[in-house]
Amino acid sequence: MEKLLKDLLMSDGISGYEENVAKIITNALSGICTSVETDNFGNVIGKISKGKKKIMIASHMDEIGMVVKHIDKNGYIYFIKVGGINDSILPGKIVKIINKKGAFITGLIGTKPPHLMTAKETKQPIVYTSMFIDVGLSSKNEVLKVLDIGDQIIFEPNAGVLNGDFYYGKAADNRISCYAMLKVMEALAKIEYLNAEIYACATAQEEVGLKGGKTSSFKINPDFALVIDTTIAGDMPGIEEKVSDLKLGKGVVITMIEASGRGTIVPQKIRKLMLEVALANNIPHQIDIIDGGMTDGAIVYTNREGILTGILSIPTRYIHAPTSVFNIKDINSTIDLAVKIIEKVAKEL
Ligand SMILES: [Zn+2]
Repeated sequence: MEKLLKDLLMSDGISGYEENVAKIITNALSGICTSVETDNFGNVIGKISKGKKKIMIASHMDEIGMVVKHIDKNGYIYFIKVGGINDSILPGKIVKIINKKGAFITGLIGTKPPHLMTAKETKQPIVYTSMFIDVGLSSKNEVLKVLDIGDQIIFEPNAGVLNGDFYYGKAADNRISCYAMLKVMEALAKIEYLNAEIYACATAQEEVGLKGGKTSSFKINPDFALVIDTTIAGDMPGIEEKVSDLKLGKGVVITMIEASGRGTIVPQKIRKLMLEVALANNIPHQIDIIDGGMTDGAIVYTNREGILTGILSIPTRYIHAPTSVFNIKDINSTIDLAVKIIEKVAKEL
């Protein structure tokens, strides 16, 4: 696995706590862009100036996680969830709490063992408010020496090769898209005749309401925005093909409608353009019409007087779990299609 991809997956950055992942992205963009800045909201925006038309690429850099809410007298830590997390995935998971000095404190999410549950309790799902984190310290005072109320909590960082082109990693949603965006910028920087000003924007706080996409697209006010995010792959037990026929390894996903239309409804002319470019360049691709879930695209395309927006997604298994699975070939086809779309938009749109 390439170091940049691994660093992005392993880095910490729940919504509102993106500083460390922002540093990795700023560093990578600095070598490619004419300017890189972090705005008031925490979005990282890199720019390549080659012409008039303004094109924005957006990938959110935040991940789902938790925040320390309360420490009891015996040193157990209670937390709030940040972003969409199903409580059933939490018990027994190893987490890292990141303190003000940047140290990673290891903890374990504990719950009452089944032996001591009442018959009624065993039938009910365990809610996160009855879970706690054990960091191996026995009093509130001891815990407060190493961490604070308000510190972020992430799932234990991991990233690697599962088998062949199948990779795994924490925070694949959406660090793999951040990686793709950086590679797209690298490729665009090498194109001399591109008549456009390209903005790469790593947005903050997407998982809690598409916030960074709102402020950054207002500021940039692009003629065209391309959002890159992950989407739910359907090639696993429990998901019927009619619900999702997206498969890992079958290519970049062209998203057309999100959340049954409550999210982005990609404009017809953008759908047509993206499909034509994929076909003309023989880029493996799949089409996504999805019932649930939305991306920064939903807020970008309704910003100002409406911003023309397209969405490319990378199919991913187990999104919003501690670790996800994806295929490197899909990342590569996403990069290829994004570059070709931007070339075409710069020329024609
Ligand atoms: Zn996402």
